[in-house]
Amino acid sequence: MLSKKKIGLLPGTFDPITKGHTDILIRATKFLDHLIIGVAEDIVKEPLFSSTERFDMTLREVESLKSCMDPLCHVEVKLFSGLLIGFAKTVQATVILRGLRAVSDFEYEFQMAGMNSYLSSEIETTFLMASDRYQFISSRFVKEIARLGGDISHFVSPYIKDALSQKFGSK
Ligand code: ADP
Repeated sequence: MLSKKKIGLLPGTFDPITKGHTDILIRATKFLDHLIIGVAEDIVKEPLFSSTERFDMTLREVESLKSCMDPLCHVEVKLFSGLLIGFAKTVQATVILRGLRAVSDFEYEFQMAGMNSYLSSEIETTFLMASDRYQFISSRFVKEIARLGGDISHFVSPYIKDALSQKFGSK
């Protein structure tokens, strides 16, 4: 019997992409044939970076991390708008991947996975637990620390750190 290709979709805002995100996506390449990183255009929360900026930054990060990823997994970054499940079907994803940090992520993620499974029962949602050293990282706090002039080197790559400095007009 031919085995079905495992196509994963990691959706998110990536405002901006952090080491927490990159840890999850590097690990996901180990068990997927194809990984699509979906950068959401329509988001309820007001993003700091435009969708084009978030897409470009994510693409650049992914390119720079190629050597850490499983070479057998094809990785792509795509912008999407509209319903996540609609995009997942368009790219023929077999699994939606999410990272789980603390218990506080659980309720939202649990509800989202339930709603998505109601909208499409063929697409499973799978969770990867955040690694210890990255589990407290969130784009929201990274932006807050950067805005107040704190050091974010442990949380993001030097390129993202510079992009944040430019946004907040500091060195
Ligand atoms: P959203 O805006 O939908 O929360 P994000 O861009 O914040 O999307 O994150 C995309 C995915 O990456 C989510 O599943 C989120 O839980 C996960 N993620 C974010 N930060 C981390 C982290 N530090 N460790 C593990 N997963 C993370």
